Order: sequence, then structure tokens, then C-alpha cells
Amino acid sequence: LFLTLEGLDGAGKSTHIDWLIGQLQSHGVRVVSTREPGGTAVGEALRDMLLHQPMHLKTETLLMFAARCEHIEQVIRPALARGDWVLCDRFTDATFAYQGGGRELGGAAVTALEQWVHPDLQPDLTWLFDVPLAVARQRLAATRTLDRFEQEGDAFFERTRAAYHTRVAAQPDRFRVIDATQSIEHIRTVLQQHIDAAVTG
Ligand code: C5P
Repeated sequence: LFLTLEGLDGAGKSTHIDWLIGQLQSHGVRVVSTREPGGTAVGEALRDMLLHQPMHLKTETLLMFAARCEHIEQVIRPALARGDWVLCDRFTDATFAYQGGGRELGGAAVTALEQWVHPDLQPDLTWLFDVPLAVARQRLAATRTLDRFEQEGDAFFERTRAAYHTRVAAQPDRFRVIDATQSIEHIRTVLQQHIDAAVTG
């Protein structure tokens, strides 16, 4: 299965990744854990550029998909073909949210690129770590130096969060919305139920 994690910066996805890998492995699942943008040599080089260099919105969106294309062909498809599961920190939903929503590119361009790059590949399950903006901001400020996306203003993140919810409304079966204001223990209990269902399903 192909599992993805999404949410605003500071929602707390990364807190749960190693734990999720452990849970899957304890069920006997072979899991490849990866991230976007990144996950390949080309992708990590593009990530560095994307996170630190200002560029035109269309350039940014194309580079996100360039990194993704490399990632899909080199990592995701081969892993799924071997029967491994893939756990990916962000995927195309992030482009709908950040470039489509946050930067106001709109969904149509992202849909066109999605149709070109991976018409036949969608995550089987996507966890959306959902938090109010103020909480995400507080957590981010406490943890690290911010990349150029994370330095955006409140309106950007409100649009990004809203675009995530538009994705959920369009594909409700694929998404599991996690109330990421809850405690880590509570969130893990919920994630555990989803994993158990996916493993037996
Ligand atoms: O999740 P992570 O912090 O690794 O994401 C790296 C940065 O790239 C984040 O600031 C995220 O908001 C941004 N990003 C983006 N568009 C995407 C994927 C990630 O703006 N499609």
C-alpha cells in the first residue's frame, strides 16, 4: 500500500513517522519511508533549491513535480512492485495545498500535472494532520529555523489549510483527518486503529 502524511508545517507529522514505521514493521510489513520534495539524489537537490531560492510560482510547481516524477519512478513504483509498503511524508496533495491554495495557483494546473506525471498512481491512505494555524505556528517557532515556505504569512497558511480540506471533501475515502491538537498518545491510538484496519483489510 501507498500511505502518505500531509498537513501544515508544524502540525506534527514528523513526530509520528518513526513510530508508524515501527508499527508497520511489527505487523510484518516491509516499509519504505521517504519524503517529498526529495527522496532521490535529484529530488534532494531540487528540495534544496525549492526551500531556499525564490522563484516564479510556475517554476516552483514544475520543480515539485520534477522531484516527484523522479521519486515515483525510482522509489515509489519499484517499492510497490516488490510488494513493499511506502510511507511518504507529503505527496501531490501538498502541491494542491501549498502551490494551488497557499500561492493561489488554483487546482486546475496541479490537476493537469498530476494527470501527466502520475495518472495511475494515488495514495491508498492519506493522513491529514490538521491543526489551527496558531498551534502550528507555536510549534514551528519552538523547533527549527524556518524555510521560505514556513516564513509565509497567516493568509497563506489559511489558504493552504483550506485547500487540504477541499481535497478531503473531494476524496473522503482516501483521507483520515487527524486532530493534531490532541496528545501524542491519543493520536497514536487513532493511527494504530487505521494501521490495524489497513493491515487486515
Ligand atoms: O514537510 P517538510 O517540512 O519536509 O516540507 C518542506 C517544505 O516544503 C515545507 O515548508 C512545505 O511547506 C514545502 N512544500 C511546499 N509544496 C509542496 C511540498 C512541500 O511548499 N508541494
